[in-house]
Amino acid sequence: MTQPMGQIIKMVEPGTVALQSYEVPDPGPGEVLLRMVRANVCGSELHYWAGRNPQVRAGCLGHEGIGRVEALGQGVATDNAGSPLSPGDLVTFTYFVVCQRCPSCRRGLFHLCENGYQWWRKQPEESPHFHATFATHYLVHRDQHVYRVPTGISDYVAASANCAVAQMLFGLDTVDPRPGDVLVIQGLGGLGLYAVAMAKHRAARVVAVDLVEGRLDLAQRFGADVVVNRAKESDENLRDAVNALSGGYGADAVIDVTGVPESLTSGLALAHPGGQVLEIGNVSPGRVAELDPGALTRRAVRLQFLIRYPPWYLHKALAFLAETAHQFPYAALESASYSLDEVQAALDHSARREVVRASIVM
Ligand SMILES: [Zn+2]
Ligand SMILES: [Zn+2]
Repeated sequence: MTQPMGQIIKMVEPGTVALQSYEVPDPGPGEVLLRMVRANVCGSELHYWAGRNPQVRAGCLGHEGIGRVEALGQGVATDNAGSPLSPGDLVTFTYFVVCQRCPSCRRGLFHLCENGYQWWRKQPEESPHFHATFATHYLVHRDQHVYRVPTGISDYVAASANCAVAQMLFGLDTVDPRPGDVLVIQGLGGLGLYAVAMAKHRAARVVAVDLVEGRLDLAQRFGADVVVNRAKESDENLRDAVNALSGGYGADAVIDVTGVPESLTSGLALAHPGGQVLEIGNVSPGRVAELDPGALTRRAVRLQFLIRYPPWYLHKALAFLAETAHQFPYAALESASYSLDEVQAALDHSARREVVRASIVM
């Protein structure tokens, strides 16, 4: 019997994609073969697309997404939360591996697994070909987590769970705001808008910051107390807005998901003495931001950086989305969908910020 063929997108060079065809692999022991249903365009794809990451100049694209189980490898009967898995089930998965053997994993830093991208970094030419989500199929490897998508979550939102939502939930837990705390969220793409939802869910007060009016409107619909358009307002105006909400003291925490190095500099100025700044959005090395270590030391600002998340956060992310499905206007996030043939347009439109988080529907 001939093996069925599937398609996967390859970024040939920054700004250009090609659709390639390969035989769909059978899942090996511990693996799960998925037929992709939907994949969202994340900010990190846009960094590669713009050629801003010198380490990723060509390769697979797409890591957010959901798929239906096509075939289960030997020994797989449940997802990583113990729910039974069968062909046809809608699932999501960590886009990275947690090997449990490397120095980071051995220290319990599962989000920093040194082998995290061992599959995702492969070129589509390399077997088993289906390493990324802009494709008809996806192979979940033994050291990835897979979770069933609960009912009541739209496909679009479920497709954000394995990057934007899980990442932000880990970020919020890291900052751990108390009710009434003042949080500044800089950058209102997918990550930032989920951050607004999670901060409001914890009864924090939110100052939401972006350059795009439509995104600020969305932040307001998600419950942001104050929105600041950085295209129009100065550093001083932003500080005034934070001071107005915090009685002149400053922000308890600033979460930066802009992907712009200078935003870290301006964010650091907003935290109160002993306050926190969490950087998540800047993922491309080699771009620098100015810091004033003396001023920051005097205010004892706590600066942290995060990448990825412990794999069970994906399960928590799905639970959060199911629990808050009626509390937040998630449907408003869905701005544009494209077919696999239209990935080039999806990336171009996203790069120009014409859409918040474009979706590829297979
Ligand atoms: Zn590891
Ligand atoms: Zn992502």
